[in-house]
Amino acid sequence: MSDTKPLFVIKKNLQKSKQTNVYFDQVLTYNVLEDICKKIFQTTVFDVNFVDNKYEDDCLQRGYNIGRLAYLHYKDEIHYITFSEQNPGGRDSSVQSVPPAFERFLTYQINQKRKRCTFHYYFFPGAIQKITEYQKFMYRLMKSSGVHFLNGESLKIKPFLSIDDILLNRKNLSENNQANRSSYITKEDSNHFLFFGKTYGANKYASFMLCYAMSKVAENDQKITFYEMIEKKLKSIPQNLENILKKCRNVNVQRMNESLDKKSIKSSRKIRSHMFLRNLLQYLGDKECAFCECDIPEVIDGAHVWAVASIKKQNITEEKKFSFVVDKNNGMWLCKNHHKIFDSGMISVLNDGQIRIADRIGESKRRFVERITNKTKLDDKYITPEFISYLEKRES
Ligand SMILES: [Zn+2]
Repeated sequence: MSDTKPLFVIKKNLQKSKQTNVYFDQVLTYNVLEDICKKIFQTTVFDVNFVDNKYEDDCLQRGYNIGRLAYLHYKDEIHYITFSEQNPGGRDSSVQSVPPAFERFLTYQINQKRKRCTFHYYFFPGAIQKITEYQKFMYRLMKSSGVHFLNGESLKIKPFLSIDDILLNRKNLSENNQANRSSYITKEDSNHFLFFGKTYGANKYASFMLCYAMSKVAENDQKITFYEMIEKKLKSIPQNLENILKKCRNVNVQRMNESLDKKSIKSSRKIRSHMFLRNLLQYLGDKECAFCECDIPEVIDGAHVWAVASIKKQNITEEKKFSFVVDKNNGMWLCKNHHKIFDSGMISVLNDGQIRIADRIGESKRRFVERITNKTKLDDKYITPEFISYLEKRES
């Protein structure tokens, strides 16, 4: 049938159709479908097939319409289309249906090599009026991921230029909302990004969209390690999302595994606990040296207050040692210089957060340390009773 003219296949039931009594066949009017068909195939002659929850085929799963999705089939082409809400009124949740729709499309694309397929986004008239900054950010992520916008030219949606461009825009978006982020991202070195993504609820989709877009705009020599933050009893992000990320040439998917972390702490002298790093990102925010405010992520470490070597010598259970090693209160962001200087005792921190340079280190070293240490007191965010107790353990 779809060889003679384009055919739309669309699930009628939206997630909440039963409560709202709004079904997708009422929303997608003939005029809307005609407009889309014209834009994609330059024809206004088409068929439409509205299907119920029981329906499934290569493109659609059983169940309700996840992601406000339609597909348009003609000859050897498949076009997925996802839609804005009709009156989103500037609500950020109005873009939440995009990632599940995109997931469906990418999964199809991976499994089906024969057909040419494209993913589109369509704005209902009136949906463009009150776009929030978050929505704009999402649209740019979509554009960077290869999503084609069928309309909304007036929004001038531009793809991001680089991973750094994405991260900068994201930072401006949620400056004061650290704990609520879906993911924590930093640089290990100039070409290697560490991505700690939450794996439950809407977070998993937000993490996925962000990581996918980063992968698409990455330079050739850049790579991303995606750590799944295992929480709330969930083992990992859903298999489909994981498979899509694993197919990206520059993404390495790792499950954050407590026992792996424990093993590395037990065996090696040099500690690389990704959980500690993740906890600091979540708690302290983006890397910025506590002594000099340097914010170049690749030269900043998570430094332990109570040293790992000392924790390992304690006569306590391995479980307890691990909890001290990864505790967010047992850490500071320090640049490489300050990390070494702090560990060698040339700088110490007093219980009220004052930064003290030792007298005994000699004139020339002291001058250098003074010159690079432009803070005299730690930021208030550090000074908690737990942090002070770690300082005391360090000194003893
Ligand atoms: Zn520093």
